[in-house]
Amino acid sequence: MPVSNVTPKMPFHEVGQGEISADLLAKLSDGAAAEEDGTRPIANSIDLLRSADLLLQGSGEPPNRTANLLMKVGAANLCVGRLWEGHMNASTLINLYGAPHLKRRVRTLIDQGAFLGVWGADGKTPVTWTAPSDCLSGAKMFASGLGTVTHAVITVNSGPKVRLALVDVSDTARADASVWDMHGMKATASGRFDFTDFPMSQAEWLGEPGDYLREPHFVGGVWRIAGLQVGAAIGLIDCAAAELRAMGRMHAGPQQARLMPILMRAWAGASLVERAAMATTDAGLATEQIVATSIAARLLTEDVALDAIRAVEQSIGLRHFDAQSQTGRMARDLAVYLRQAARDAFLQRAAEHALGQDGGTWGIFE
Ligand SMILES: Cc1cc2nc3c(=O)[nH]c(=O)nc-3n(C[C@H](O)[C@H](O)[C@H](O)COP(=O)(O)OP(=O)(O)OC[C@H]3O[C@@H](n4cnc5c(N)ncnc54)[C@H](O)[C@@H]3O)c2cc1C
Repeated sequence: MPVSNVTPKMPFHEVGQGEISADLLAKLSDGAAAEEDGTRPIANSIDLLRSADLLLQGSGEPPNRTANLLMKVGAANLCVGRLWEGHMNASTLINLYGAPHLKRRVRTLIDQGAFLGVWGADGKTPVTWTAPSDCLSGAKMFASGLGTVTHAVITVNSGPKVRLALVDVSDTARADASVWDMHGMKATASGRFDFTDFPMSQAEWLGEPGDYLREPHFVGGVWRIAGLQVGAAIGLIDCAAAELRAMGRMHAGPQQARLMPILMRAWAGASLVERAAMATTDAGLATEQIVATSIAARLLTEDVALDAIRAVEQSIGLRHFDAQSQTGRMARDLAVYLRQAARDAFLQRAAEHALGQDGGTWGIFE
């Protein structure tokens, strides 16, 4: 993509996010079924976000506002939300660790149509680079947005000295979306990308070895995933309630008794997500406190979302499992999205902080 003759308006770390209208959310929701069956490219929805200035995530943006936007998009279309979160995550890493010239270049790329992702999960042969080779080797798996993401922040080598590089991933010959044969989140095309003999001339190092793992930005950033999870759970309940109203069944006491407690817990989860987001900017909090709050948000919203899926199955009944059912599609996307890395290790880490020392639990009131 040529970058030379475009003057960047502003480095993107100084730009705030646009607004999100009800009309835009309705369009995202309307596109989801066709995006799942492959008759409409998900890039159309990404273009809608771009038109609303939502691809220029700013580091000056209050994180609770970002969390709120993620919830709304997650409720409307979780696949689009997942891709948008990847773009946001990549933007955040570039803002944190990128040299000024890289920040300016990425802003220009985004203005020209680029869309970002973060590809960390390695295939059987991890992505590695050994000096003085001029090529990468290995492959990424679960690489979201194949064919839509133009530039990815990838992890290179593993362990405590893992490196980050920004790479142009628009070479579709290296991408294999067919390996993403999942029950849900089909529209994200989260497949394999082959970095065998990938020229280093197309990669730019980002930050120092080990930066990727620095807290509170690494595990401390899972509040963004939590925002999508709880947004999608609320969207699922909302859709189920609309369907039940249309059938004249929403006023039944047992339906209310099943769905309302989950909506209340989702509400509490949404508040915890916003709190975890704001914790990342609170200089008065210890790093591990920020991380534990983010983990709590991720795991609470996972539980609420699992309960939402179960309750909606019981409330809607068999028609929920029809291939054309909207609640069915939302539930299968959500069920797949909830499978995020290392949940049990995260739970132990939060417990060590909150329960493993005197006064740890009092962090709740700080
Ligand atoms: C829709 C979607 C899009 C994605 N997109 C991307 C992407 O763009 N880029 C990317 O890098 N990744 C992506 N991922 C992958 C993601 O980063 C994780 O690799 C993936 O979600 C891990 O899920 P898992 O359930 O297999 O996790 P695991 O960590 O394997 O957890 C499964 C279970 O095993 C347990 N467990 C884990 N390790 C151990 C152990 N050592 N001993 C005992 N138990 C253990 C866990 O606690 C959990 O109970 C995506 C995932 C999804 C769902």
